[in-house]
Amino acid sequence: MQPYQHILLAADFSEHGEEVSEHAKDLAERYQAKLSVLHVVDNLPVTDSIYGPIIPFDVDITDQLIKASKEKLDEIGARLGIPAERRWVEVGSPKVEIVRVAEEEGVDLIIVGSHSRKGLGILLGSTASSVIHHAKCDVLAVRLMED
Ligand code: AMP
Repeated sequence: MQPYQHILLAADFSEHGEEVSEHAKDLAERYQAKLSVLHVVDNLPVTDSIYGPIIPFDVDITDQLIKASKEKLDEIGARLGIPAERRWVEVGSPKVEIVRVAEEEGVDLIIVGSHSRKGLGILLGSTASSVIHHAKCDVLAVRLMED
């Protein structure tokens, strides 16, 4: 087996993120691999629940979310020793962007967190399962325990 050379951590800034990122750091050290980190700002329209999901507010908070994401990535990057040029923010669907960026950047291992899903979650599918099904490289899904 070829050692991994470029590992991508998909960071969603959730409470379990640190656990996932520690796996990424550990594996990058073991394989002497490059480590990159990606956060995807979901471009869902902002909606008012009174009117239902159809009518979006006329606001675009994408720029603020990108700025806040960059700050978060800087914290994670500093903690994991990831240089600024490999701290990436994209806008779009996380499951699509994670796979696209991995392919474009020559990543050979993607690391995501994975929750056990019940009810609706199973029907909708998770980011982790979509990435596992669509990525052209290996994917490590770090099992996250529910509280
Ligand atoms: P989820 O399916 O939303 O529970 O997310 C599972 C995992 O997918 C997370 O632990 C992250 O590794 C990754 N992920 C989810 N959303 C994002 C996002 N917006 N940006 C980057 N990675 C994400």
